Amino acid sequence: MKNIIFIAPPAAGKGTQSSLIEKEYHMPHISTGDILREVSQEDSEVGSYILEVLSQGGLVKDDIMYQLLEERLKKEDCRNGYVLDGFPRNVEQAMKYDEMLKKLHQELGYVIVLDIDEKTLEKRVTGRRICDACGAVYNINTEKEQPKEESICDVCGGRLKQRNDDNIESFRNRYQIYLEKMQPLLDYYKKKGILYVIDGRGSVEEIFQKIKKVLMKG
Ligand code: AMP
Repeated sequence: MKNIIFIAPPAAGKGTQSSLIEKEYHMPHISTGDILREVSQEDSEVGSYILEVLSQGGLVKDDIMYQLLEERLKKEDCRNGYVLDGFPRNVEQAMKYDEMLKKLHQELGYVIVLDIDEKTLEKRVTGRRICDACGAVYNINTEKEQPKEESICDVCGGRLKQRNDDNIESFRNRYQIYLEKMQPLLDYYKKKGILYVIDGRGSVEEIFQKIKKVLMKG
């Protein structure tokens, strides 16, 4: 399977879809945010630097980013394709990623974008509830994604909570930043002819079917 770069606005369901792709195609889901969160726990200079950047919501320096990503992409499990989430975040990183791939004898593959309008995302953000015990995700604004019992997880009986940044103000801010930063990146990949824009409205399963169709075209 070809590699995938997965791009989507906040709350579009990128995490859920990445897990489904991972299971169906046996490709690792590589989230640069997850890698950084892990390194930030290390007792080292780089660890404390990353911890500080993450807490401020800024971007980690490119040289550290590239080094961590290259190390991850060199691992055996990436040989047959991977889903990259959180990288690249701008055109400069995209250009560096091209160089990295050349060095690793890998190809860009697909760039998949979930396209959803702001109003739909707002509804998702305000309705999203996450089980604090097992991490299962629900949405109280969508009939198909509601828990059977209010505030209780169907899977494990744990309590459902709302994420701190799942409020309208924070969402609007994150969404604006996404639009500004992502458009040049999408243009970059459109020119290369590998950009696939998928309508991200609908149920988790419906969106996954659309992604599978793109991957089948390959
Ligand atoms: P995410 O989980 O993708 O939202 O990323 C969490 C945080 O990790 C971001 O707010 C950034 O501080 C950092 N981060 C993730 N990916 C990158 C990247 N490609 N370049 C720089 N910083 C990043």
